Amino acid sequence: MTGAITDLSKQAPPEAITTEICIIGSGSGGATAARLLAEAGQEVVVLEEGGDFVGPQLTQRDGAMYDQLYMDRGGRASHDLSVSVLQGRVLGGGGVINTCDVVPIPEGVLHHWATKYGLEDFAPERFARFKDDALGDLSASRIPESLINTANNKLRQGAEALGLRGEVMLHNRVGCAGLGTCLIGCPINAKRNPRMVALPKAIAAGARIFTRARAVKIDKAGQELKEVTVRTLDPDGYHEQSKLKVRAKVVIVAANAVASAQLLLRSGIGNEHVGRNLTLQPQLPIIGMFDERIAAFDGIPQSYAVTEFEEEDNAEFGLWGYRIEAIMGTPGIVSSLLPFSGVPGMEGMAQYDRMAASLLLVPDAPSGEVEVARDGRLTIHYEQRTDHQERLRHAVETAAKTYLEAGAREVLVPTRPSLMIRSAREARQAQQLAFAPATAPLISAHQQGTVRFAASERDGGADLNGQVYGTRHVYVFDSSGFPTSASSHIMTPIIASSRMLTTKLLTRI
Ligand SMILES: Cc1cc2nc3c(=O)[nH]c(=O)nc-3n(C[C@H](O)[C@H](O)[C@H](O)COP(=O)(O)OP(=O)(O)OC[C@H]3O[C@@H](n4cnc5c(N)ncnc54)[C@H](O)[C@@H]3O)c2cc1C
Ligand code: SF4
Repeated sequence: MTGAITDLSKQAPPEAITTEICIIGSGSGGATAARLLAEAGQEVVVLEEGGDFVGPQLTQRDGAMYDQLYMDRGGRASHDLSVSVLQGRVLGGGGVINTCDVVPIPEGVLHHWATKYGLEDFAPERFARFKDDALGDLSASRIPESLINTANNKLRQGAEALGLRGEVMLHNRVGCAGLGTCLIGCPINAKRNPRMVALPKAIAAGARIFTRARAVKIDKAGQELKEVTVRTLDPDGYHEQSKLKVRAKVVIVAANAVASAQLLLRSGIGNEHVGRNLTLQPQLPIIGMFDERIAAFDGIPQSYAVTEFEEEDNAEFGLWGYRIEAIMGTPGIVSSLLPFSGVPGMEGMAQYDRMAASLLLVPDAPSGEVEVARDGRLTIHYEQRTDHQERLRHAVETAAKTYLEAGAREVLVPTRPSLMIRSAREARQAQQLAFAPATAPLISAHQQGTVRFAASERDGGADLNGQVYGTRHVYVFDSSGFPTSASSHIMTPIIASSRMLTTKLLTRI
């Protein structure tokens, strides 16, 4: 049997669908599970609230693409607007709009989870085969020298001059033409993401995929046949339209750490851990301003990372320290991150082709919570801890020195008030950054931990099979289960973990 993608904004849905397995979310976690389950002969339905965008439908226009490809049109943020919380909202999920960095869970983190949290399936030797399979799904390879652009090379040049450890990253592109718009989708389908790999295989094996299908509630979680209430959306995904019930013996929630917890909370499913222990991994951009043309928008945005200060086996937190990675955004996003408006803003953007930007990736300890009010309104509470601020200041200082060493005229820290650093001595001013709420453009691309996996119900929201405590056959297969930050980039960890959990599920159904 061959499955299909059905756009429910264009086709009237039936009143109800009955299936063996219903998967909510079509990203790295959901698509991987859909593929493996369908290939094993299971009847699979996937619900995805985003639309399907491939090839030239990914128009490289940032206004329209952020609107269509990001959750809440890219406007989601923590309760006090301190952290912009970004998530894909499209068939294939975040893999469609991410920068293709492939970073598996480091051995130190796997060991930390197995020993400190009792997650025995994540012990390095047991997890190795799932990591290898995930790398295969992604066609992972080292980014070739020919595709490393000037902006990334500037970061590398500065790091090498300062004697800092760094690396050219692995990626999941095949046939990349260096068009530079990864963050709003690849118009030539060069990303080996869930939309291009797992979902076609799932469909070939019979999975039925529904887009513009938002799961709003899971009822009868304790019964043999669970009931998912679905609202179809209009073609642009703005408004809810008709209603549909999906009945399934197994429900897998893989909607991303925030959305998965939101759905469970709205459904009244799970214990007191659901929604808690959120990590956001807030990242801060920093911009080296050069006199020469850099054209950071040309080519792969992110290929080099300074890893000197990253710790993979911190005894208390697992992943700790920080890393610095080159990045570039489209003009819309860069102009919104500059701490100027009016004429200074225009003058700043006039230097767009002479900027080399980086993200300071600073892992955090769980310090947030997803809350859903009675009226369904979502709030993401998040407190930035002082240990996060301290490492962020250190990272600003290091990144500024690195760009200055590579020949930058000055380095802009886009906080309010902004900081302009022109010498290694001035870089010490980073120590004065206060990071008061909403004064720094902190970005979260890696939400984790809201339904923590734990061997005992006392310590987490889901068991070692990913089954939500208090339910039978309701699971979370995404980063919700990660007890601490899995990696500096979490697509590969989610695929590997979903592969492991799906393999276990297949022995139990
Ligand atoms: C800008 C950006 C850049 C990133 N860069 C990298 C990178 O380079 N490398 C890396 O490893 N990671 C990166 N990440 C992170 C990575 O892409 C995500 O963590 C990963 O895609 C998450 O996978 P997931 O399956 O958990 O969720 P997602 O991929 O987010 O998929 C969940 C899907 O569920 C859908 N959904 C949500 N709620 C519902 C509902 N109620 N009903 C139906 N559908 C629903 C959403 O629309 C979404 O498509 C990046 C993330 C962002 C935002
Ligand atoms: S840089 Fe490569 S992968 Fe990214 S959008 Fe351009 S062609 Fe696609």
